[in-house]
Amino acid sequence: MDVGHPNAVECERRTVLARYIGSVCRLCRRENLKMFLKGDRCYSDKCAFDRRGYAPGQHGQRRRRKISDYGIQLREKQKVKRMYCLLEGQFHGLFKKAEQKKGVTGTNLLVFLERRLDNVAYRLGFANSRTQARQLVRHNHFTVNGKKMNIPSYLVKIGDVIEVREKSRKVGVFLDAMETVVRRGVPGWIELEKGKFRGKVNAFPAREELTMPIQEQLVVELYSK
Ligand code: SF4
Repeated sequence: MDVGHPNAVECERRTVLARYIGSVCRLCRRENLKMFLKGDRCYSDKCAFDRRGYAPGQHGQRRRRKISDYGIQLREKQKVKRMYCLLEGQFHGLFKKAEQKKGVTGTNLLVFLERRLDNVAYRLGFANSRTQARQLVRHNHFTVNGKKMNIPSYLVKIGDVIEVREKSRKVGVFLDAMETVVRRGVPGWIELEKGKFRGKVNAFPAREELTMPIQEQLVVELYSK
């Protein structure tokens, strides 16, 4: 838990058994960014960010105050962490891994985040949100290279084939999600065979393919202090 987070106590209260159980729309409003954490609702006129695009809480409608360099770095880290629906320990663990790998740490971090199985399942359109994808992975609905895989943090490799298990394909949630993937599009580094509920990792994403508004250098600066 970040002690510098303005809502640290509130977040701690809402994080039970390593799972955030508060309102995810609050997170979008806190980070001042639509993070698409709620599937279909994010594209509808019910989106809380579109309706109330100011910070949550009693003083949310006040003008956002000027923040320090540390504050900017902290907000960026929180934003990325929340986009991928991770808790601090999981996120920091991936950062350590990214640091140890050759290359640019910030880019390595983003690539590791993208390679998580729950993210890939979401990107392929097998779920409407990363949270939903994580739950579906945990509930044994997927195989990787033909073997059952229920670990959301599994990092896919080039050539991996991710498939919805045969008996799960009629589950409504998959059919709904597959309909809506058209709106999001599937990134170029993975290939979807929609009719077969199957996707293949053809490459790892290049930095320029990751188009979310992320300044990963700020995260690196924060953790390097
Ligand atoms: Fe964010 Fe989606 Fe909620 Fe809108 S509906 S505030 S994009 S999680």
